Amino acid sequence: MTPRTPDFFDEGALVAVLTTQPLDRALDYKAPEGGCHIGAFVEVPLGPRKVLGVVWGPGQGGFDLSKARSVIRVLDAAPMRDEMQEFLQRAADYTLTPMPAMLRLATRAPGLSDPPSMRKVYRLGQGRPDRETDARRRVLAVLNEYGGLSFTLKELSDQAGVTSSVVKGLVKQGVVLEEDTPRDVPFRLLDPALSAKDLTEDQARAADALQAGLRKGGYGTTLLRGVTGSGKTEVYLEAVAECLRQRRQALVLLPEIALTAEFLKRIEARFGAKPAEWHSGVTMTERRRTWKMVGQAGCQVVVGARSALFLPFQNLGLIVVDEEHDTSYKQEDGVLYNARDMAVLRASICGARVVLASATPSLESWANAEAGKYERLELTARFGEAVMPDLRAIDMRTEALPSTRWISPTLQKAVQARVDKGEQALLFINRRGYAPITLCRACGHQLGCEHCDARLVEHRFLKRLVCHQCGETRPIPDACPSCQAEDRLAAVGPGVERLSEEAAALFPDARIATLSSDMFGSARALKEQIEQIAVGGADIIIGTQLVAKGHNFPHLTLVGVIDADLGLQGSDMRAAERTFQLMRQVAGRAGRAEKPGTAMLQTFQPEHPVIRAILAGDEEGFWRAEADERRHAGVPPFGRMAGIILSSPDMQGVFDLGNELARRDGPLRQIGAQVYGPAAAPVARIRGRHRVRLLVKAPKGAALQVAVAQWIGQVRIPGQLRLTVDIDPQSF
Ligand code: ADP
Ligand code: ZN
Repeated sequence: MTPRTPDFFDEGALVAVLTTQPLDRALDYKAPEGGCHIGAFVEVPLGPRKVLGVVWGPGQGGFDLSKARSVIRVLDAAPMRDEMQEFLQRAADYTLTPMPAMLRLATRAPGLSDPPSMRKVYRLGQGRPDRETDARRRVLAVLNEYGGLSFTLKELSDQAGVTSSVVKGLVKQGVVLEEDTPRDVPFRLLDPALSAKDLTEDQARAADALQAGLRKGGYGTTLLRGVTGSGKTEVYLEAVAECLRQRRQALVLLPEIALTAEFLKRIEARFGAKPAEWHSGVTMTERRRTWKMVGQAGCQVVVGARSALFLPFQNLGLIVVDEEHDTSYKQEDGVLYNARDMAVLRASICGARVVLASATPSLESWANAEAGKYERLELTARFGEAVMPDLRAIDMRTEALPSTRWISPTLQKAVQARVDKGEQALLFINRRGYAPITLCRACGHQLGCEHCDARLVEHRFLKRLVCHQCGETRPIPDACPSCQAEDRLAAVGPGVERLSEEAAALFPDARIATLSSDMFGSARALKEQIEQIAVGGADIIIGTQLVAKGHNFPHLTLVGVIDADLGLQGSDMRAAERTFQLMRQVAGRAGRAEKPGTAMLQTFQPEHPVIRAILAGDEEGFWRAEADERRHAGVPPFGRMAGIILSSPDMQGVFDLGNELARRDGPLRQIGAQVYGPAAAPVARIRGRHRVRLLVKAPKGAALQVAVAQWIGQVRIPGQLRLTVDIDPQSF
């Protein structure tokens, strides 16, 4: 039988179906009744099970065709586009990930195999209730206010502040109508013309350049660099507007879920409707709707986390990666990929534009812009009256401070001055929990996790000890588990909770808000807390990394960094870059509105080159010095790297295999690469598995993935041993 078109298979034709099951290739099936398109999402039999798959291409054949099984059915979803197939294939090749694992990322739609489903909605009916109550009046008021709109039961009862039985009561009397509608409905239309801001000259130039790129069409990446508060977001929203005018879809990636709520409001204010949201905090129903609507072009803009890159966009025109330098773009579990790099890959395949926005770009993007691969746009000034904060070091060697306190007298005075003036101060420490170390004063034993090579961290707020590697928690014991001495366990060092305690003692009259990702049961509680702070609901904010990212606190005029040296310890070559970015980011929180800001860095080494670069605000100088060092060492972005992590409950086994790999480095030497290790991985044991790492360093332009695949293909990997390849590792 010949196919009608090259991409349609008639009933009975042999098709290759790629499934999400861990098999090493696509399997052949017969096309179902009615035939199927290439890219169709299908259900196929596999042994006794039914599994999800995608029709990847024509079948390979070469076996007894009468034995071929048939596709069970085609699912209710738009077929995967060939550009998505290509994206998955190339992402798999780049990250050395098996295709089924890659496909799993692209099929994360809950209920993909469910039939199209209906749900109950409620709208205004006729007549009046037999008896008027306050609750009933509120329900009718909501329905009246929104005209002909319908609500789900939950939406309606939440809006009206009543229980669902009140609504049901009104349904019985016909005052409210209950109807069935399809569950997956298109998103409200965003209007690009709605309320554009008057841009400054600088901003307008940047926005014009982005729009010109979109109009020209085809792939292109722009690094949009500008200090915090310079209006990068306003500028890239104009690129989103152009994308909407072209009737193409846009994706905005944010590094932190906690930032989405604020951002969605901004989009709604600009374009008149909320976009779709995609991250782990979104309900299953909403995710299913987003996945389907993105695939049917019933959704114009998606705001989300890195996994949104795998949504089935139909005509993607723009991907924005906000805070592109952020390390959370690197997925460190399962498929190891950097969303920033994958965004560029995806865009280059489907002819979309990419905007990488940051106040402190990654060295990678900086180097790509230098090399002319990325266009570069700069916003130099803060918007309006706001000026960059004044940066100062507090030399901790000259501050009189007992070892159980962390807020120096100088910083204390500065905070008090802000509180007295009714302004806000932020104290930043990049450590969750109460104290990083819990130590027995009788025997010196430090409490550690049984399963990991990690300390247990006391979290007073949770009243537990927590392992930050495996997440296991346990109650805080009274006696030392090693020497059984009672009441001798002591907290050593500062964490965000302990800093809060110190601040409460130093500033008894101030309202203190503590922000740490583990202190909030829900994204909503965190969001409310952040909104409270933004409107002045706190005098002193104490926070971890969470507060460094993008939040807008207009009354904040002082930032105090408790330990500016923290990130500079250790041997990681990226430490300087990380510290520089983080410190500039945190400092950038100060003085966003009319009030000028100050940032103070507590440090024991004010003459350290990184600390000096931060204080001097000499970004170009810092990047150049850093680039020289990396170039000299031949590491990214001037060389290529891959990390191989071997893990197993058996320590000898991982070292043996590591040594074997190190010995058999022929395929690596062929491309001029070197292998280092095996050595204990940065965390040497997690969840009972010992971990060793090998690092491969190759010249830029070398076919690293091909060589690594050949290299690891030489060894047999015992069952309990796991080998993970990490291309472009975060630390080296
Ligand atoms: P960035 O993304 O660079 O940190 P934002 O785009 O968030 O900067 O801008 C900082 C603040 O200044 C925001 O509140 C934003 O609405 C405001 N702003 C920036 N540019 C303009 C403009 N041209 N007109 C009005 N408000 C602006
Ligand atoms: Zn642990």
